[in-house]
Amino acid sequence: QEDKFKKVIAHAKEYGYIFGSSEIYDGLSAVYDYGQNGVELKKNIREYWWKSMVNMHQNIVGLDSAIFMHPTTWKASGHVDAFNDPLIDNKDSKKRYRADVLVEDFREKINQKIEKDITKAKKRFGDAFNEDEFRSTNANVVRRQKEIDRITVELTRVQEENDLAGFKQLIEDLGIGCPETGSKNWTDVRQFNLMFGTKLGASADSAMDLYLRPETAQGIFVNFLNVQKTGRMKIPFGIAQTGKAFRNEIVARQFIFRMREFEQMEMQFFVRPGEEMKWYDYWKETRLNWHLSLGLGKEKYRFHDHDKLAHYANAAADIEFDFPFGFKELEGIHSRTDFDLKAHEEYSGKKLQFFDPELKESYVPYVVETSVGLDRMFLAVFSSALQEEVLEDGSSRVVLKLPAVVAPIKAAILPLVKKDGLPEVAQQIVDDLKWKFNVIYDEKDAIGRRYRRQDANGTPFCITVDHDTLNDQTVTIRDRDTMEQKRVPIAELKSLISEKTDA
Ligand code: ATP
Repeated sequence: QEDKFKKVIAHAKEYGYIFGSSEIYDGLSAVYDYGQNGVELKKNIREYWWKSMVNMHQNIVGLDSAIFMHPTTWKASGHVDAFNDPLIDNKDSKKRYRADVLVEDFREKINQKIEKDITKAKKRFGDAFNEDEFRSTNANVVRRQKEIDRITVELTRVQEENDLAGFKQLIEDLGIGCPETGSKNWTDVRQFNLMFGTKLGASADSAMDLYLRPETAQGIFVNFLNVQKTGRMKIPFGIAQTGKAFRNEIVARQFIFRMREFEQMEMQFFVRPGEEMKWYDYWKETRLNWHLSLGLGKEKYRFHDHDKLAHYANAAADIEFDFPFGFKELEGIHSRTDFDLKAHEEYSGKKLQFFDPELKESYVPYVVETSVGLDRMFLAVFSSALQEEVLEDGSSRVVLKLPAVVAPIKAAILPLVKKDGLPEVAQQIVDDLKWKFNVIYDEKDAIGRRYRRQDANGTPFCITVDHDTLNDQTVTIRDRDTMEQKRVPIAELKSLISEKTDA
């Protein structure tokens, strides 16, 4: 798995999808730049989301609120007081860790031991193996599972009670050492706020302390009435927005999975109090279906319902994705009650209510939120698309099976040779198609190599112009996934490509 992940990162760089930020200065940790192909893939995923949320729902509208917001926003939202990670330093190695991640990694290691035992037993017993029975009777597994359960309970407790001393006690009790050196010489656990601060204004005394927004949602909440009134929206209705968010993450690893500057795609759905659970269920299902529509495979997704809820929520679930490093959160669906709007009413002194003509009363709506990281979506799509295939003739190819609808380049137009007027015809096809699709022209290298390059680049179609084209106005169209080649009239290209690439 680790190997696969390394290949994903290397491929993303080699094909102009993702570069480390300011690489010539040795980079900036957990900050990344999207290259010529990455920017297209990211834009296409964003558009695919926007279409399904805003265009397909008559009662959802968009918004683009500013990254800077009045600082009181973050007091009201709870981010100033509660948006913290518990930090711990190792005194010997001087390395810093998130205390919860240390414990979770430790728990995961025990889990891996269980999985190993199971794999071994499966091999030994063959068809006769019954996993449930093994889990409940094998002494080693039972002991380890008990340990996992105990850790989970204790971790939940210290997190819920914000018991920092208890956190340290837990790390000591479990005998967790520094992952790099093994040293068990820890500092106390303390809280670290994840928001980036900055200043607005030129002179030192009049400057105002601001934060870079850590989520896009608050821009939606503070504009709730603006949109509701000017758009004459009736509950239930939603406001969607995509945009940058910033978090000073401590454990910033796993490539674009956890970044310090990232992009979110969020939608806040405003509902009648008491009806939130109905909409929560609706959005869980609708969002999962959206993911499935990309065709990466049903087995790649699972729900994780939260037992432990954030201060603003009365129900929450994650859609988890099977990343190269295992199942991890891709999207959150949260029933946020009236927490945010009520808090903004309180701090701003302005009413943020809706007059419900059916009930003939005003109330602060409840909110169901869907929140997905665009970069995490990118990683999900990209990592599962990257495949190595052994072909019938024994050779192998690297192919990036991106869903055609989000692929950066929809078709490459290739003249078989660089002479006899073929380049001119190919260029004419490019000029024809470019109004509707992102297409490229490529005449370099033998045709086989050009096919392989487009396979690795994720381009769903290659269109080859040869000498027959000059006589009969037909070309060869090659499908990236099946490698099948068909002869088709140039006039049919548009509809053929549309069929596969339109959302
Ligand atoms: P995690 O538990 O992984 O830190 P979270 O629960 O804090 O995530 P939310 O606050 O619910 O995440 O944010 C919604 C979505 O934004 C997440 O599901 C994820 O896709 C994305 N996201 C959050 N933090 C980051 C980050 N540091 N880098 C990239 N994407 C992120």
